[in-house]
Amino acid sequence: MSIFDELESGVQSYARSFPRTFHRAQGEFLYDDAGNKYLDFLAGAGTLNYGHNHPVFKEALLEYIQADGITHGLDMHTRSKEAFLTAFAEKILKPRNLDYVVQFTGPTGTNAVEAAMKLARKVTGRTDVIAFTNGFHGVSLGSLAATGNSHHRGGAGISLSGVSRLPYDGYFDSNMDTTEYLDKVLGDGSSGVDLPAAVIVETVQGEGGINAASFDWLKNLEVVCRKYDILLIIDDIQAGCGRTGTFFSFEEAGIKPDIVTLSKSLSGYGLPFAVTLFRPELDQWQPGEHNGTFRGNNLAFVTAKAAIDLYWSDNRFAENIKKKSLYTANRLKNIAEHNGADTLTPKGRGMFCGIDCVDGELAGNITRNCFNNGMIIETSGPEDQVVKLLSPLIISEQNLKDGLDIIENAFAEECAGGKRAGTGSREKKSINNLFRVAS
Ligand code: PLP
Repeated sequence: MSIFDELESGVQSYARSFPRTFHRAQGEFLYDDAGNKYLDFLAGAGTLNYGHNHPVFKEALLEYIQADGITHGLDMHTRSKEAFLTAFAEKILKPRNLDYVVQFTGPTGTNAVEAAMKLARKVTGRTDVIAFTNGFHGVSLGSLAATGNSHHRGGAGISLSGVSRLPYDGYFDSNMDTTEYLDKVLGDGSSGVDLPAAVIVETVQGEGGINAASFDWLKNLEVVCRKYDILLIIDDIQAGCGRTGTFFSFEEAGIKPDIVTLSKSLSGYGLPFAVTLFRPELDQWQPGEHNGTFRGNNLAFVTAKAAIDLYWSDNRFAENIKKKSLYTANRLKNIAEHNGADTLTPKGRGMFCGIDCVDGELAGNITRNCFNNGMIIETSGPEDQVVKLLSPLIISEQNLKDGLDIIENAFAEECAGGKRAGTGSREKKSINNLFRVAS
């Protein structure tokens, strides 16, 4: 029996899909201790947009450690925090005309979401937050209340309160704009829907099945928020840091959220790091009112600054992501067409994409087939029915092609004739939020 089976809690999940012991990683590749090499199309669930152990970030980190730079600094001012904030202000916020203050929260995504929802409630004096079907915002209790998935919600052990649920864009098989519903019920004093403090939304739902909201829907949501003085929180933890083609996933929609959460790829190196951004007027925290020991991961400040300097000083990286996105979108379209366009639907935006197989068993067979052929790739969605592509954004064109070849072969093999999984109805639903190809 391995030490993992003996000692580690059964709560582990990715380890079940990829039962190997990994020991080395570089760029878009992971290596196991038997010497096998895997193309990483999971990328730390969206944490490794710049790949594993990026040599430039690693050098900055090693230099910093060698010089006895601060590792842990609570929320004290340090040179590395100053350098990160300066780069973030100059290269991310100002060019996008975004006037936000930065709150360093605890180091993981759910910490940023907790801070965002707590602040919205504090500032507005209202309790309710509106979240969306298939939304995922983390599993600590406040965030979990906003998360839709019943498997995760079931682990709460107490009632999850303070959140109301609204259908996300494309939730119905019609062209219904669900923001119209929100507008209607908020304007109706007898609807029974209380005025919320905030709306929290992902522009592309990652865990919920790669559902990409249309820009029109996001714009309409912003209009409703402004009309009723509700704070708009964009949870950009998975969709941000370039995944959809721009630093923030909401840029192309032309909206300006009141509050934004970022984590995952923010450190650039897989180091734990999260921030909540908000308009300066909303900064009504008392000193230390919302705190946490690990709000000053200075190693992450160093690598995050290096990532901003290297990739976000000009438009080249964004252009490169767009090019790869278009190539990927076309390949996914072809895969669907050749293997049952009646039941397979490519979806997503930018390099945040996948194929909805309707059937979770089929999607699982496809990711297992990919794993057997040297690729780490996962599923998402309520039935785990979406094969989800999250390759590092820095992946070379050749490796992207090779990866898509592995996926294409897996679909061809698993969809061939009688090998299709599932016995129930696999009729394709009319999925409205299909591929939003980068403009
Ligand atoms: N919000 C979104 C959109 C996410 O995708 C995730 C994680 O997948 C979270 C929040 C929670 O982040 P963490 O798992 O780091 O707490």
